[in-house]
Amino acid sequence: MVGPCIFISRSNLPSVIYTQLNKLPVEIRMWKETGPMWSRQASPPREVWVEMFKECTGVVVTLGDVIDRSLINESDKLIVISTYSVGVDHIDVKAATERGIYVTHTPEVLVEAVADLAMGLLIALARKIVQGDKLVRAGAIFDKWGWLLGSEVHGATLGIIGLGNIGTAVARRARAFNMKVIYWSRTRKPQIEFALGIEYRPLEALLSESDYVVITVAATPETRHLINEERLKLMKRGAYLINVARGDIVDTNALVKALKEGWIAGAALDVFEEEPLPSTHELAKFDNVVLTPHIGSATSETRERMAEVAVQNLINVLMGKRPLYLANPEVLSIRPLQPLI
Ligand code: NAP
Repeated sequence: MVGPCIFISRSNLPSVIYTQLNKLPVEIRMWKETGPMWSRQASPPREVWVEMFKECTGVVVTLGDVIDRSLINESDKLIVISTYSVGVDHIDVKAATERGIYVTHTPEVLVEAVADLAMGLLIALARKIVQGDKLVRAGAIFDKWGWLLGSEVHGATLGIIGLGNIGTAVARRARAFNMKVIYWSRTRKPQIEFALGIEYRPLEALLSESDYVVITVAATPETRHLINEERLKLMKRGAYLINVARGDIVDTNALVKALKEGWIAGAALDVFEEEPLPSTHELAKFDNVVLTPHIGSATSETRERMAEVAVQNLINVLMGKRPLYLANPEVLSIRPLQPLI
C-alpha cells in the first residue's frame, strides 16, 4: 500500500522499527549501509538525503547523520525527523523548527546503560583494569612494588558536569560506592541535591576539588570545548577525566597536552571529536587512557528500547498525536499536529 514515504538511514537498526512501520500504510525506503550509528561514513551521500528530504514525510536518523540547515531547506513534504539517540547535536533543530519539522529523540530509556558505562570507565581507570589485562596477556611477572597500584574510589570526590538524566544516574551510583558527589549544571537542582546528598559547585571549584570528573552535559554551541586548557589546569594532578557525553565538549589538543605534561592522572573517553578515533591518534599512545568506541547505550535491551521509542515517536506524528519525546516543542505552534495516516 502506498502512503507517506518514510526513509530509514541504516539497515541495521533494531527490527522493531521496520515491523512497526510495516503495519502502516506507508512506503518504507531504507539506506542499505550497516555501519555504526555514530559513523559519518555509513551515512547516505548528500544527494540521497536531498532526494529523501524532498520526497519523504518522515526520516529515521542516527548520530552519524548530519542534518544541517542547507539540507533542511531542501525539504518539501518532510514533517518529522526521528533520531535514534538522545543527543540532537547532529541536527539543526532551530532550522527544523522554523520549517515546521518535528524533531523527536530517545531520552530516558538509555540513561541507566550510559551511567553504568561511566562508572565502569571510572573504575577501569582508578584500578588500572585495562593495563592489568594487557600485562596478564603479555605474561608479565608482577614482582615490583608499585605495579598497578591504583586510586581509591570509595571516599573519593566525584564531580559531575551536567546534572541531567545521565548525570543524576551517575550520582546515584557514585553515592552507592560511598563517594562524595559534587556537580555543576546550568540549572541548580536542589531537590536532587537533597534526595541524593550531593552538593553544587561552580565549574572551576568542581574541577579543582574532584578526584574524578565525569562529563554528562549535552553538546551545544555553549558547551563546545567547555573543558579547555585553562580548565584542565585547574584539575588535581591525581585526578581523572571521564567523558561519556560528546567529544567536542573536551578540547582534544588540550587534553593531549594535559596528559603529556601530567596535569591530570588519566582519562577515559567513550566519545571523540573525530569518530572513529584513528588508531594512530596521540590519545591511543597513553597507558593511563581508556578508550571505548561510543558504546554508552550499547546494550541489546537499551538499543531495543531506543528503537521502540524512535519508531513510536515517528508514528505518533504521522497519526497526529504528540510524540513521546519532542526535542522542539515550539514546533507545535508552527505546524499543529494532524493525522496523515
Ligand atoms: P539530559 O537529561 O537532557 O541532560 C542534558 C544536560 O546537559 C543537562 O545537565 C543540561 O543542563 C545540560 N545542558 C543542555 N544544554 C546546555 C547548555 N546550553 N549549556 C549548559 N548545559 C546544558 O540528557 P541526558 O540523557 O542526561 O544525556 C546527556 C548527554 O549524554 C546527551 O546530550 C548525549 O550527548 C550524551 N549521550 C552519550 C551517549 C554515549 O553513547 N556515550 C549516550 C547517550 C547520551 P541543565 O539540566 O542543568 O539545564
